[in-house]
Amino acid sequence: MQVLEIIVLTDLGVYAAHRTFHAVPILWRFHAIHHSVEEMDCLAAFHVHPVDQIVTKATALLPVFLLGFSGEAIALYSVIYMGHTMLVHSNTKIGFGPLTWLIAGPQFHHWHHAGERAAYDRNFAGQLALIDLVFGTYRVPTASMPAKYGVDDPIPSNIFGQIGYPLVPRKAVTTGDRPRSEP
Ligand SMILES: [Zn+2]
Repeated sequence: MQVLEIIVLTDLGVYAAHRTFHAVPILWRFHAIHHSVEEMDCLAAFHVHPVDQIVTKATALLPVFLLGFSGEAIALYSVIYMGHTMLVHSNTKIGFGPLTWLIAGPQFHHWHHAGERAAYDRNFAGQLALIDLVFGTYRVPTASMPAKYGVDDPIPSNIFGQIGYPLVPRKAVTTGDRPRSEP
């Protein structure tokens, strides 16, 4: 029961942090590192800028520790989360059929990474697609998978370039900017 409560609580935090990382331009520069992957596989789950990782995990987990859930429940949740985040990023067409709207699956999360305008800023939840449904950001358009992944942002290809990318000032507008605020 505690594990289920932790999943709901943490995923509300993941949703809020993730949506904020998409909405605020300076934060998007950190999160764009994760979206720069152009081929989805389970390792994409770990292709995350440290600032993105720390802020998102802190937002999700701080209430869990403050509310005093048991160590065993937190440990079991951590194992489930690790498996789940690798699954939703993995290179598979597994769909959850009639439960697609409830549990985040590869199809749901692949559409979050889709490199097409209509897919931007949708499907923020990590484990419970229901949260996106409730807040009006759910979008799984077809039973198929996206044709293309990645972003237009000029993300460097090496690790040091990617870690420094959000911190290096750029001109206010470049032709490579992903149009974050457009519908
Ligand atoms: Zn994202």
